[in-house]
Amino acid sequence: MVISDLKKQIEQMLLDSGNEDFQFEAREIIREVVGRCYDDKSLTDTEYEKCMQMAQRRAKGEPLQYIFGHWEFYGYDFLVGEGVLIPRSETELLCEKAIEHLKKSGGGFADLCAGSGCIGITVARQTGEKCISVELSEKAFSYLERNITLNNAERLITAVKGDIFDKSVIEKIADDSLSAILSNPPYVNKRDMEKLQAEVRYEPETALFGGDDGLDYYRRIFKTYDKKLKKGGLFAVEIGEEQGRAVSLLMEEIGYNPIIIKDYSGLDRIVMAVK
Ligand code: GLN
Repeated sequence: MVISDLKKQIEQMLLDSGNEDFQFEAREIIREVVGRCYDDKSLTDTEYEKCMQMAQRRAKGEPLQYIFGHWEFYGYDFLVGEGVLIPRSETELLCEKAIEHLKKSGGGFADLCAGSGCIGITVARQTGEKCISVELSEKAFSYLERNITLNNAERLITAVKGDIFDKSVIEKIADDSLSAILSNPPYVNKRDMEKLQAEVRYEPETALFGGDDGLDYYRRIFKTYDKKLKKGGLFAVEIGEEQGRAVSLLMEEIGYNPIIIKDYSGLDRIVMAVK
C-alpha cells in the first residue's frame, strides 16, 4: 500500500468518528510513524499496522498527544500521557510574556502547578534563568522529571513534588526572591466540567477542575505567593476565557495593577501584572 491510500483510509475512519480535523490528524498520524514522505511511497506492513492502531485509538476519542506519547510546545518536545495535562498552544503566550520580562530583568522564577513542565522548561531554556517547578500529582511529576532531562534543563530547573500551598513547599522559596511567578492552574468551573470535549475527558480532572467557580487556585496563589515576588517582578497566570475580569479583581485586591491579554483566537487568556 502507498501513503496516499492509507491516508484516505484513515481520513475516512476519523471522519466517521465525527472528527472535524480528520485531514490534519491523518497526516499527523502518518508523519509520526513514517516521518515526512511523498504520497506515492510504499509502506511496510509494520508501518501500516502502527498507523491503523493509532487511527483506531483516535477514532475512539483518545487525544492524539497521548497516542503519540509526546507533543511539541514552543519548539521543544514534551513527553505526555495519561495523568498529565497536554501542553496547549495558547500557553505559549504565557511563556512569551515571561521570556520578554525575564530577558530584561534577569532572575529566578517559579512555575506553580507545573504538570508536564512545559512553561518552566521553555522559559528557562529561552532565558537561561533558573526555575522552581512545583507539581503535586505523582504521575505528572514523573513526566516533569523526564521532560527536564529530555530538554537538557537539569541545571536550570529544580523540580519539587508537593502541594503549592503546603508550608514545606512555600518555605523552599525565599521572600522577595522571584523575578516572575507563572502558573497555568486548574481553572475549569463545575458547570464547564460537565461540558468538556470528549478528548479533554481523557485528561486528569486534578489538572482541570478549579472549584465551583473555577477560581480557587487564583485566590490562594495570589495571597500565598505575593510575598515571594520581588518588586518589579511579573505575576502572570493563564485563565479561562470568561475569567479575565474576576481574576483581575483578585489581583487588584492584593494591590496589583493587572492587564488582560488575549490569545490568537481573540479570547482572554492571560492576566498579568508587575509588582
Ligand atoms: N485549557 C484547558 C481547557 O480548556 C484547561 C487547563 C486548565 O484548567 N489549566 O480544557
